[in-house]
Amino acid sequence: MNQKATEDLSNEEIQRYSRHLLLPEVGLDGQKKLKAASVLIIGTGGLGSPIAMYLAAAGVGCIGLVDMDIVEVSNLQRQIIHGSENVGELKIESAKRSIARINPFVKVNTYREKFTADNALDIARDYDIIIDGTDNFPTRYLVNDVCVLLGKPNVYGSIFRFEGQASVFSAKHGPCYRCLYPEPPPEGLVPNCAEGGVIGVLPGMIGTIQANEAIKIILGEGTPLYSRLLLLDALDMRFREMSIHKNPACHICGPNPTITQLIDYQVFCGIAPKTDAVQIAPEQVISPVELAEQITQSELLLIDVRSPEEHAICAIENSILIPLPELPFRLHELSKDRAIVIYCKSGIRGSKAVALLNDEGFLHVKNLSGGIKAWAEEVDVEMPSY
Ligand code: ZN
Repeated sequence: MNQKATEDLSNEEIQRYSRHLLLPEVGLDGQKKLKAASVLIIGTGGLGSPIAMYLAAAGVGCIGLVDMDIVEVSNLQRQIIHGSENVGELKIESAKRSIARINPFVKVNTYREKFTADNALDIARDYDIIIDGTDNFPTRYLVNDVCVLLGKPNVYGSIFRFEGQASVFSAKHGPCYRCLYPEPPPEGLVPNCAEGGVIGVLPGMIGTIQANEAIKIILGEGTPLYSRLLLLDALDMRFREMSIHKNPACHICGPNPTITQLIDYQVFCGIAPKTDAVQIAPEQVISPVELAEQITQSELLLIDVRSPEEHAICAIENSILIPLPELPFRLHELSKDRAIVIYCKSGIRGSKAVALLNDEGFLHVKNLSGGIKAWAEEVDVEMPSY
């Protein structure tokens, strides 16, 4: 986009890309197309890592990176563009340096901002292809709508636990993401990787598929995943493919679109502005320090409503595990006269548990504010965090 497709390759570039130049599907002309191409990657995390690394290695001339997150230790199990020495740095800066190390011929544009309805069109406009490396529904719909409105291909991928999906949505060639999923799932129903976990190699598998699709589209070779949804079950190692069709009633790519400009994607996805914590009375909240003072009382029952996997990582001493989904079925184990303190990771599930117990007539119930995360910060500093 920023350079002419006819721009020649230097001798150094010819040597670097020689295995591409030998391929009939790439060759000298194809490599020049790659050099002239620009690709915007939304997110520099699990999917964004292999996408950016392979596109850089392949010689895509210009790569845009949008992310405002900082590299955290818990990212390193899968976000391989970052290393231990990058913890605490901006992901876009860490990724930019990795790309420069892989291929100094690539120009990198970084956008230290959240991709939102306010900036998305301006950022995406100058790129040939947009790749979705995000992990949340509002941004996924935003990326889709930006691509439909600008007439650009949206190379889609998503991952969860051991399962992944990939497709190429392009309103010119087939359905868009909204044709497949007209409505987002109810808020909170589909957990993300931070809540449900993800096997580290999965974003590598899906991300490289996305990179391959982008390269094919740039070259104009092969059969991109238009009108096809690829499903991967990495636990049983099975790929399945679903045909997907343009929805004539699609709100954005159908013949009578109702969405002609970007909308509020948080509202569309039913996400409350700040938190999905249930409102409970202030006297039903206990701080970590208060709990530490009261914990020795023998009548206090401490309940961990997280998952067994989280409980195994760290737990407050003498607490019992009742995962939130099991709580409604295990009320008979609890006494209504006894003082109960609930905790989860950050306080959100705990507030739901308190509300549920209140509805069932348990009135001496409190929620540990900030969950075990706050407990680890304020009381037990030796406790691991996750
Ligand atoms: Zn559509």
